[in-house]
Amino acid sequence: MPSDQTSAPLLAFGAHPDDIEFGAGGIIAKETRAGRPARFVVCSRGEAGTNGTPAQRMREAKAAAKILGATIEFLELDGDAHLELKSAHALALADIIRRMQPGIVLAPTLETNQHPDHWRLGTLVRDATRLARYGGVAELRARPAHAIGQLFFYALSPGSEPVGAQPILIDISAPEIVAGWTAAMTAHTSQRKTRNYAELQLARARVLGLDAGVAHAQALWPNDPLLFDSLAPLARGARRF
Ligand SMILES: [Zn+2]
Repeated sequence: MPSDQTSAPLLAFGAHPDDIEFGAGGIIAKETRAGRPARFVVCSRGEAGTNGTPAQRMREAKAAAKILGATIEFLELDGDAHLELKSAHALALADIIRRMQPGIVLAPTLETNQHPDHWRLGTLVRDATRLARYGGVAELRARPAHAIGQLFFYALSPGSEPVGAQPILIDISAPEIVAGWTAAMTAHTSQRKTRNYAELQLARARVLGLDAGVAHAQALWPNDPLLFDSLAPLARGARRF
């Protein structure tokens, strides 16, 4: 595999301070422990949440990112629960993509029956990955164009999984990976008062894993067809029942 595919940073976008950890934290734990840099960009301070102040939620997100071995920055767009689809936002996200030059980008799924910030951010990120590679966008000229390798979507709940689309599954069964992921989720102390989200995500990973014949797995949905050099990476099936 070319070195740029394994060493280029993974860039994950979240609408709220805990989205990335809950939707893809196990995969990120596995990637960072394998040496891939990871960067988180959180697009609100979670100020509309039922529990936790913005300052507390930012602290929790920083602690969780540190556990997962990722850097984190916050980008203020329209505020929690107010995100709108605007070309200015897609351009701001594209500028971040140009600055960070990721190989893989993660964003929330586009299913609309979930928190409206999630699918709107996923849509803005999808637009941004295109704008980032277009050479002639005036607002982006300060940095060179950048084409990412892949955009994958993560689902924050069963209801936000794309209907009828096959996911790719990542085996996150190693105990130290599950432990790191769990620690990152539970770092969001304020959110544990609202719902037991960590238990929900661990149960989802357990079901996906059992169905695939491993202990735990987490799912991603590719935005584009995946290209492989051969059938070799595809020989492992993910169906046991
Ligand atoms: Zn969220």
